[in-house]
Amino acid sequence: MTTAHTTSAAPAPSERRQIRALPPELKNQIAAGEVVERPASVIKELVENSMDAGATHIDVTIEDGGQTLIMVRDNGSGIPQDELELAVTRHATSKVYNLDELMRIGSYGFRGEALPSIASVSSFRITSAPDSGTAGVPSDAYQISVLHGVVQEQGPAALHRGTLVEIRNLFGNVPARLKFLKTQSTEAKRCQDLLARLALARPDVGITFSIGKREVWRFPANQTLRDRLAVLWPPAITDEMLAFDHIRQGYRAYGLTGHPQKAQPRPDRMLFWVNGRAVNDRLMMRATRDAYKGRLLSKEYPQVALFLELDPEWVDANVHPAKNEVRFRDENAVYMAVRRAVEQALESLTTLEQVEAGQDPFTSAAPKDMGTPRADSGRPAPATKPLGFWGSMDDRSVMPQRHHAPVPAPTSADTGFVQTPGVRRDMAPAAMPVHEPDAFSAVPQPPRGTTAAMPRNTDEAEATPTPDTTGAFRTTEPAPPAPSAYAPSTVTQEPAATSVEIETGLQATSAFMAQAAQDAMPEETTSDSTETFGTDNFSEGDTAVRIGDLTYMGQIGDTYLVVRQGRDKLVLLDQHAVHERILYQRIMRDASQGLSQLLAIPMSLPLHATESTRLQELWTELGEMGFSLQTEGSGSLRVKGIPASLSQSEARDFLREILSGQVQSMEDMWALMACKSAIKARQKLTPDEAAGLIAQWLKTPDRTYCPHGRPAVVQFDIDALEKLFKRKG
Ligand code: ADP
Ligand code: MG
Repeated sequence: MTTAHTTSAAPAPSERRQIRALPPELKNQIAAGEVVERPASVIKELVENSMDAGATHIDVTIEDGGQTLIMVRDNGSGIPQDELELAVTRHATSKVYNLDELMRIGSYGFRGEALPSIASVSSFRITSAPDSGTAGVPSDAYQISVLHGVVQEQGPAALHRGTLVEIRNLFGNVPARLKFLKTQSTEAKRCQDLLARLALARPDVGITFSIGKREVWRFPANQTLRDRLAVLWPPAITDEMLAFDHIRQGYRAYGLTGHPQKAQPRPDRMLFWVNGRAVNDRLMMRATRDAYKGRLLSKEYPQVALFLELDPEWVDANVHPAKNEVRFRDENAVYMAVRRAVEQALESLTTLEQVEAGQDPFTSAAPKDMGTPRADSGRPAPATKPLGFWGSMDDRSVMPQRHHAPVPAPTSADTGFVQTPGVRRDMAPAAMPVHEPDAFSAVPQPPRGTTAAMPRNTDEAEATPTPDTTGAFRTTEPAPPAPSAYAPSTVTQEPAATSVEIETGLQATSAFMAQAAQDAMPEETTSDSTETFGTDNFSEGDTAVRIGDLTYMGQIGDTYLVVRQGRDKLVLLDQHAVHERILYQRIMRDASQGLSQLLAIPMSLPLHATESTRLQELWTELGEMGFSLQTEGSGSLRVKGIPASLSQSEARDFLREILSGQVQSMEDMWALMACKSAIKARQKLTPDEAAGLIAQWLKTPDRTYCPHGRPAVVQFDIDALEKLFKRKG
């Protein structure tokens, strides 16, 4: 601190002291308290100055988290010699001359306080070689150095072009500030994040970032936003981001937004800019998340890089000196502009998915190219999943992407798992129709004279043997019986097992189900013996389907399944929660068995820097799951074996998702996979689909709640109904 103008001992409160103007260094130090919070804020000010000066290339170097050195060098227009001192010692700016200009700020800086503030709390030097005005003629370079706000020396210097700012020992004279800094690596990370925000806003400007002698990243000039994001975020995320550009009532919102299936539990990849300025704005964040309504869970956040452009008079960027907050004149208009823009991007996704799903991803026989994923690739939307999804496809729908041919049933140890090295699962023979020991055998038979067919707690469910531990599945394509290695005998020989083949034809399915039910249910087990299982036509096209003593009645709001149990109970199921639970249990079961299959040709996965770190953390767990992995030098992962339950492309997707840091734990990962693959709310189901779903659900442990803990089922018995109707107290 400059002590010349302050007394070392605080004056007594009663003592009258004369009013005096603050000395300039102190003024600057007070301003520094607001502008210069930490090394990252210094970088922000300096790089913005470089950009304001029209630089096309900027190099940033820090040492020790920025505490000992911050250096920014640009090729911008420079500062004339006679303005150097003014620029670093007094609130002086070349950017705003009057109030009118202040209202229409087109540049980053405008207060003229950054350089003097920084110079007041550091050892500061600026060297500049301004444009000579004549092309090809370099002008003379000058420098000025300042220590803790006091000019030390100035004079000629050697610099070819642009400006070089060097800051050493930041906060050297303000120990209190130093105490607020975090560890050097944390501060370095903040510098890097902040510079990245600037680099994303200006992909035309070349930027490098180095820590000491090590170059952390280099963005060449004239890149695209996607190019830059791909350096910062894992490809699993950036490859699938959707572009948008939407203009509405003078507001333009453009950028890239994440695929809903890539959502993550933290909002740290939601980035916003207003007129090119990085902002943390709740309104824009809410508008973005609202655009994803129905596609994300409440605790999920999409990735987004969104740029809002509007008339500078409609926004006040002057709220805070650090300038990452703005105030909008018309919040509603901003909300709508942002929301519509993102919705537009997501709508394009639906169209794309429909097109792809129209090609029937389940029948394409050739294994997909394992090469670079296509940018902007869509995925089959749940809304367009083929009929039969629940019954047969579920058993292998472990990952959301299903572009490959049907894969053979994963087999389990207790049914004689056969490892088949050399057989690529994607190319294995089509799966055979296996008669699954199905729903009905797993439903506890109601004690005679009661209607309690649906277990009310998980213990009851767990106690019921579910022979379907093989993960066997059927295909809707007629296929010859498969080799026995893939057809565990326990499946077909299960006594009283019933098969429910959900096929694409409604007639066939209903007839099949009716037959199956009759085989399965001896008449005396139900009171309603003449029609234990079958379909009735209801009004409005709904068809009732019997599943044991359950009668599926129809769908409410394309979300809730209405079921009558026996004669006396109303059961409502949440179709998403129900399906999520089915998938979760299956994924967890398969993963925990840890069975591995060797790949004939190991896959090689490029590893992004962020992914390598994550890989180290998860190495053991991945091994336990059945992955056999090997790192290949830096930047590449060799996958030699994968879990038996996953196809090669699923395994690849799984690795990419888990390594990209979207989820924190394996359980989260399973839940995420289940949620993404599961049928969504507000999706129409045919009666057969609904019945198939219910049948699957009935043999699933922990069925009453979804993996996130929401209830999957709500029940009302006669008693409850009578209370609802106030027949009973
Ligand atoms: P502001 O950016 O708010 O104007 P600063 O204190 O950051 O205030 O900078 C003061 C002035 O110094 C700027 O207005 C600009 O004219 C000049 N300046 C600062 N950095 C550079 C640079 N890298 N290249 C050219 N001119 C610069
Ligand atoms: Mg500035």
